[in-house]
Order: sequence, then structure tokens, then C-alpha cells
Amino acid sequence: MAIKKYEGIVTIEIDEDKCNGDGECVNVCPTNVFELQEGKSKAIRVDDCIECCACVDACPTKAIKHHSC
Ligand code: SF4
Repeated sequence: MAIKKYEGIVTIEIDEDKCNGDGECVNVCPTNVFELQEGKSKAIRVDDCIECCACVDACPTKAIKHHSC
């Protein structure tokens, strides 16, 4: 299991085994939290999250967990 945890104002977990790198979260996030690195999404700007939950809804493989969504 390759679950990466990003903690700050919010907590986002990305299951890199499920992430297929299609970038839906990158495209949908209004505050540009995510970045693709080597084909996997990273929540590198987790503190910019406004808790809209769009990334959780948009991910086609359900790879993103968000503590408030
Ligand atoms: S919950 Fe909204 S603001 Fe936060 S990372 Fe996901 S898409 Fe971006």
C-alpha cells in the first residue's frame, strides 16, 4: 500500500496504488493544491485547500481521501 498523507490545515491522503495520473484533481482544484510528479498526484500545497471536496468527487479511481469530505 502506498498511501501518502499530507497534513496541514487539512489532511489529504492519496493512494498512489490507485492514482492513475490522469490529473483530474489537478484540473479541478480551485486553489492548485495538486501537482503530478512521475505520474502520481501529490498534494504539495495542502495548506491552500479550501475544503470544497471537488478532488474527492473528481477522482475516477477514488484515490483521494480528505478528512472533511
Ligand atoms: S478539497 Fe477542493 S480545495 Fe481542497 S484539495 Fe480538494 S479540490 Fe483542492
